[in-house]
Amino acid sequence: MDSGREDEGMVKLRFCPNSNDLLYPKEDRERQKLVYVCRNCDYLIDADSDCVYRNSIAHTSDEVTTVIQDVRTDPTLPRSNDARCSKCGHREAVFFSLTTTDGMSLFFQCVSCAYKWKDTGSAVEES
Ligand SMILES: [Zn+2]
Ligand SMILES: [Zn+2]
Repeated sequence: MDSGREDEGMVKLRFCPNSNDLLYPKEDRERQKLVYVCRNCDYLIDADSDCVYRNSIAHTSDEVTTVIQDVRTDPTLPRSNDARCSKCGHREAVFFSLTTTDGMSLFFQCVSCAYKWKDTGSAVEES
């Protein structure tokens, strides 16, 4: 999905036995497995436990949902008069940035109907 982001903090560091380079986690899509690869040679090993890395990707939307509260009354957050709520058409929205497992995202909440959405246009559903 976003292969450009480094996530070494969440995974155990491994080193290549050939060149001593740091191995990078990578998803082998064909086998649906997490592997570690060396960028200097062709060394590649299967990860012993792939749950940390893969779960963080799979659960992204759940985490976002639980983090976002009703922020309409928060006076510290900036407001935009240039947003457009796709639910009620209202133009004023509170916005804020949030770091999720997807990286940094901008979120909006309509001050009129409390509808929430991301700057990518996708809705943030509560379930
Ligand atoms: Zn190597
Ligand atoms: Zn609205």
